[in-house]
Amino acid sequence: MDFPKERFSEWFDEVLEKAGILDKRYPIKGMNVWLPYGWGIMRNIDNLFREVFTRHGHKEVYFPLLIPEDQFRKEAEHIKGFGGEVYWVTHGGMEELDVKLVLRPTSETAMYPMFALWIRSHADLPFRIFQIVDVFRYETKMTRPLLRVRQIHFFEAHTAHEDYEDAERQIEEDIEIWKEIARKLALPYVLNRRPEWDKFAGAEYSIAADTIMPNGRALQVATMHEYGKNFSVPYEIKYLKEDGTHEHVCQTTFGMSERLVGAIIGVHGDERGMKLPPEIAPIQVVVVPIPSKKKEEVMREAKVIEEELSAAGIRAHADLRDKYTPGYKFYDWELRGVPLRVEIGPRDMEKGGVVLVRRDTGEKEFVERDVYIERIRALLSEIQEAMLRSAEEEMRSKILVTDDIAALREHAGWGKVHWCGRQECAERIKEETEKQVLGTPIGEMGTKGRCIICGEETEIQAYVAKTY
Ligand code: ZN
Repeated sequence: MDFPKERFSEWFDEVLEKAGILDKRYPIKGMNVWLPYGWGIMRNIDNLFREVFTRHGHKEVYFPLLIPEDQFRKEAEHIKGFGGEVYWVTHGGMEELDVKLVLRPTSETAMYPMFALWIRSHADLPFRIFQIVDVFRYETKMTRPLLRVRQIHFFEAHTAHEDYEDAERQIEEDIEIWKEIARKLALPYVLNRRPEWDKFAGAEYSIAADTIMPNGRALQVATMHEYGKNFSVPYEIKYLKEDGTHEHVCQTTFGMSERLVGAIIGVHGDERGMKLPPEIAPIQVVVVPIPSKKKEEVMREAKVIEEELSAAGIRAHADLRDKYTPGYKFYDWELRGVPLRVEIGPRDMEKGGVVLVRRDTGEKEFVERDVYIERIRALLSEIQEAMLRSAEEEMRSKILVTDDIAALREHAGWGKVHWCGRQECAERIKEETEKQVLGTPIGEMGTKGRCIICGEETEIQAYVAKTY
């Protein structure tokens, strides 16, 4: 499979189809069918969210999908941001509803009236919940599977705090949580504090994790928002303080979506197809029998290996399909990105071992049966680390540090440029290069320099990129 960076979208669509991730022939634009293998990846990521956020003190909830219009319209800024892209339910059967209902585009307006009932005193804070649900946005731009859709598989965490400082501590913790998740997904990223004009509707500020796709575009894969009291005032979420007075809570959210699957497929793709990080691969090890002779025994042995690996807690699958050659099976599982292949043939059986083949590097080795499970464990964790390392290098190689607008225009990847922080200058960059300022990088020290547009002295070195 050809992997031309300039024809990345065709490659992406082809992989989604051949690897059995999604079927986009469903007759509603921007809504796709998850297929078993793709859903297996998504579910592993959901379980990772569950595990990490639960460990960090969040509890899982599940809210209704529909939101009454009056409840939806309470926070003005939020509605300005979302009002134009929601789906409305206007009828119940044949009758027109008295109060129209919104399909949640995100769940602030569903949750916060309930928060007002649940949060009574300082003893209830901090309050942390999350849910994994689908959200709906009437996307008017061109839709793309996983990257820009109208029904979005979504993770959202919502927290409430006594004061702004405690909400800020939550954002700090969110950054740590994100680091852990990104590591397990083997995703390289940059954290950017979005410019004022590009923050989430209703937020004080927004921090986004952006990763780079093979065509050089930026893909936003996670966001954290500080709300301050912007929602707690209109939704009247108040608590009783120790001194007997009432105070509005400060709030934060953290959001991620099925875009992460798109990011993993894109970032780790190559001419043979997908490469999945072992942490989230539905199948970590595929066992392919090579029965040149003694077919029965070899097939049986492949099954035994699958069982031994499964018993050891490794997600393994023996490909015993009769109608396909081993060569076809190699191709098929490489395309689907299975991190490690075990080959077993009559000669390996005589020698008392198996052959292991890495998907990421193609390296092969023979290992004896009495130590093969430990070796597979070690290799899976090595592959996980190596995939992250090579993706990070790839990302860095696509970033051009420059203060020359012509060079920035020509460059296919991201730029890193000095920027004074003003909207006019960001707009000029966009006009001249089609690249957008992603914001102020978090956790990176800028060097002194002059704004690429106005020449004013600044220490902000912003990433600029075409975006999805
Ligand atoms: Zn400037």
